[in-house]
Amino acid sequence: MSKRALVVGAGITGVATAIRLRQIGWEPVMVERAAQRRGGGYFIMLFGTGKAAAGRLGVLDAIGTRSGSGATSYTVDRDGRRSPAMMPSDLPGEPRMLLRGDIERALFSVLPADVEVRYATVPTAITQDETGAQVTLLDQATGVTRTEKFDLVVGADGMRSTVRELVFGDDLLHPLGFMIGACLLDRPLTGFGMSEGLWLNEPGRSAIAFSFADRPSSLMFTYRADDSGNPFAGTPIENLRSAFGPAATGPILGELLDRYEEAPDVLFDSVNQVRMPRWHDGRVVLAGDAAWCLTLYSGMGASTGMAGADLLGTMLARHDGDIGTALKAWETRLRPHIEEQQAQVHADRLLFIAKDDQEYAMRTQMMQMAATSGGLPGNTSFDSKNRDISG
Ligand SMILES: Cc1cc2nc3c(=O)[nH]c(=O)nc-3n(C[C@H](O)[C@H](O)[C@H](O)COP(=O)(O)OP(=O)(O)OC[C@H]3O[C@@H](n4cnc5c(N)ncnc54)[C@H](O)[C@@H]3O)c2cc1C
Repeated sequence: MSKRALVVGAGITGVATAIRLRQIGWEPVMVERAAQRRGGGYFIMLFGTGKAAAGRLGVLDAIGTRSGSGATSYTVDRDGRRSPAMMPSDLPGEPRMLLRGDIERALFSVLPADVEVRYATVPTAITQDETGAQVTLLDQATGVTRTEKFDLVVGADGMRSTVRELVFGDDLLHPLGFMIGACLLDRPLTGFGMSEGLWLNEPGRSAIAFSFADRPSSLMFTYRADDSGNPFAGTPIENLRSAFGPAATGPILGELLDRYEEAPDVLFDSVNQVRMPRWHDGRVVLAGDAAWCLTLYSGMGASTGMAGADLLGTMLARHDGDIGTALKAWETRLRPHIEEQQAQVHADRLLFIAKDDQEYAMRTQMMQMAATSGGLPGNTSFDSKNRDISG
C-alpha cells in the first residue's frame, strides 16, 4: 500500500512536494488555507539551484522566462536623471526573471489530476506516535473538523507556518528590520517603455521597477523600519508615503507611489528570516519558507522551495520505510546550503537597499564597478545560488 502524506500549503514548495511524492509512489493530500489557488505574486528570480530542481520535477519548460534582450533598466533619482543600470538577469547563472504565478501555474500544470487538494482547510492539532501522525483538519467553509492519520506531514505553509507553531513552537521568526511593498504594473510608467525598469535608491529606502521582456514591470518598495512604533500601524500606502517623505517625491517616485495606491492587489510585509535548529520532528517536516524563509532579497525562495521538495522525495525513496533516517539524511544534505544563504542575507540585501549613508556610499561604488566591469564585487556568493542540491 502506498504511503500517505499530508502537505500543508499549496504554494510553490507544497505543490513541488506533492509532485515529487507522487513521483516516488506516495499518495500526497494537500490542504490550503485559501479558498482557492493563490496564483498571484510579483517579481521572482529562478537561479541555477531552482532550475536544476525544476528540471527534475518536469516543470522547467512550463515555467518559461520573462528575461530577454529587450528588457533594460535605469538608475534614476527624484529629479528624473537616468543612467544605465544592472539587470538582475545579468547576474551570474543568468537567473530567469519571472512572476511568482508563472512557477505556481507551471507546477499545477504537471500535478497529477487525481492528487486531492482541499481548499479552505487548515490543521489545528498534530500528534504522533510510531504508527503515524494524527492531524486534526478544520474545513473553514463548513466548520467541520476531522482527524486523519498520515505517514508523514510536510509543513509547506509559508513564513508564518501553523505546522511550525503546532509542532516546533514559536519565536522562530527573526525580523531583519526592513519592510517591503510590491505590486504589478498594468501599463508602462510615464516616459518609460514597457520593458524599461528603474532603480531609485537612497539611504534606507529604495523603489525598484523590475522589467520584463514581455509585460510591464513589477514594483518593489523597500525601506528600513523605524525602530520605534508599529510598522503596520497605517495602511500600506500611508506607510510607504511616510517612509519616502518628507522630501518632495518628484515625478517618478510620485507616480510609483500613486500606481501602488491604485493597484488592485498589493503586498506589504516585514522582512523576516526563519531560523530553526531542526526542520524535522518524528514524522513532521517543514520545508520552504516555513522552515528557512530566506527573504525576497536572497532571490532564492522559489529555488530552495523546489530544491528542498525534490531532495525530500529522493531521500524518502532512498530510505524507503525508514522515515526518520530519510528526514535526517535530507536535512544533513540541505542545511549547509540553506545556512550559507541565510548568512549572506545582508550582502544580498545591499543589492536592493542600503541601510544607512555608509552602506549607501558602498553600494553606489559597487554598482558603478558592476556597470563598468560587468561583475558584482562584495560578499554575495552566486555560486551558492546556482549549485545543484540534488541527493
Ligand atoms: C500570494 C503570494 C505572493 C508572493 N509573491 C512573492 C514575490 O513577488 N516575490 C518573492 O520573492 N516571493 C513571493 N512570495 C513568496 C514566495 O512564493 C516564497 O518565498 C517561495 O515561493 C517559497 O514558497 P513556499 O511555498 O514555501 O511558501 P508560500 O509561498 O508562502 O506558500 C505557503 C502556502 O501555504 C498556505 N498556508 C499558510 N498557512 C496555512 C495553513 N495554516 N494551512 C494551510 N495552508 C496554509 C498559504 O496560503 C500559501 O499558499 C509570495 C508568496 C505568496 C503566497
